[in-house]
Amino acid sequence: MNELDLSGIGMTSLRTRFRLLDRLRQQGIDDEELLEIIGQTPRHIFIDEALSHRAYEDTALPIGFNQTISQPFIVALMTKALFQGGKLSRLLEVGTGSGYQTSILAQLADRVYTVERIKGLQNRARQKLRLLGLRNVQFRHHDGGMGWAAQAPFDGIMVTASPRRVPQELVDQLTPNGRMVIPVGDADGQQLQLITLEDGEMQVEVLEQVRFVPLLSGTK
Ligand code: SAH
Repeated sequence: MNELDLSGIGMTSLRTRFRLLDRLRQQGIDDEELLEIIGQTPRHIFIDEALSHRAYEDTALPIGFNQTISQPFIVALMTKALFQGGKLSRLLEVGTGSGYQTSILAQLADRVYTVERIKGLQNRARQKLRLLGLRNVQFRHHDGGMGWAAQAPFDGIMVTASPRRVPQELVDQLTPNGRMVIPVGDADGQQLQLITLEDGEMQVEVLEQVRFVPLLSGTK
């Protein structure tokens, strides 16, 4: 892939990217560093070519294997919530998917550890991040519901698939000031929750009603 493909000119005009940023601002995303990163990250390379003309619409899109790339507003909301307390050095992401959210996190943190249970998605994501020159990401093909104990603790954990309740293993892998953003619920309804620790006690703030794919066990 050449530079032209990365910039997306010809396929997706710069105007559509600016329109997306305006939309995110209107929805309350006011973190300018984050908006700049979203504006500069070519979302179209994470999507099948047949759909890439829709890459800068504020919508989730299929990425194969029955999974979806998250809606930009949700990516922005989750990232904003995770970083609202200040800089985070080491992050765990559960559910690499297309790698789009991973690439945003990699531009904000020192190191990102990302776990995906579907090998085919992980391979593609790894290739895209290499293309973008993002080298501070470590990938693991595994069931991420148990976190990544060997690399813990993490200053932040982002979960992009939905468990019925917050896995204690993930809470245990947070630093004392750590933060976790996670969609909790089932197919009937999910809440996006921000989890923080206060003297070791879990505090929960509900951010938004959301709809994510379920967090499944085992690998494929
Ligand atoms: N943030 C991603 C969206 C991911 S969709 C993006 O921007 O593209 C959720 C992903 O979580 C899917 O790829 C799914 O395979 C993965 N997933 C589901 N359960 C998992 C588990 N237990 N461990 C790791 N990954 C999981």
